[in-house]
Amino acid sequence: MVDSTRVVYDSNDKNIITMLPPGGKKTVMLTFDDGPGRVLPEILAILQEEEIKAAFFWQSRLLHPGRPWRKVLDHGHIIGNHSCSHKNLARLPFHDQLADLSRCKEKIESLTGQKVDYFRPPFGQYNSDTIAAANQLGMETVLWRIASLDWELKDDPVMILNYVIDHLEDRAIILLHELPQTVEILPALIHEIKKAGYDFGLLDR
Ligand SMILES: [Zn+2]
Repeated sequence: MVDSTRVVYDSNDKNIITMLPPGGKKTVMLTFDDGPGRVLPEILAILQEEEIKAAFFWQSRLLHPGRPWRKVLDHGHIIGNHSCSHKNLARLPFHDQLADLSRCKEKIESLTGQKVDYFRPPFGQYNSDTIAAANQLGMETVLWRIASLDWELKDDPVMILNYVIDHLEDRAIILLHELPQTVEILPALIHEIKKAGYDFGLLDR
């Protein structure tokens, strides 16, 4: 059973981003956490087919050179920092949080040669030290507006689609993961979002 109050993340914290900046046309942004993983090539193929750009928040422990990171960047997607190994950072002292984020950032940057501007805390858990560490490293902290709950809905992927569509709103950042059940519903999800009149954008749109 899913607690639907967790689908929409409502925050007045000015230090975190949950929505795209105001713009013209109705737009949402797709984000994929916890890669780079095995289904990444399938996600990239679907996004390419639909001509959509998205953001990927990666754990640096998974970032071995065989993953198609170059394709991710060539296709115009964003690679963000999702920590080294997905610890709950809010339980760590400041200097440990800073060390973790710094190591993850350096690992992504040294592989890709591209600056990492965005950070998403594991489990969405953070405190003022987390934000301060990210800021010190020149990264903005990005949460989400709509949680797809895809990690809980392995056996019922259509629910992933329904939750997102039921909560669609302009500028919403949508939380997805690099998971097989997400791949399964991704084409339908994109079609439904387009049908509802939305474009797909990124934070720097
Ligand atoms: Zn995660």
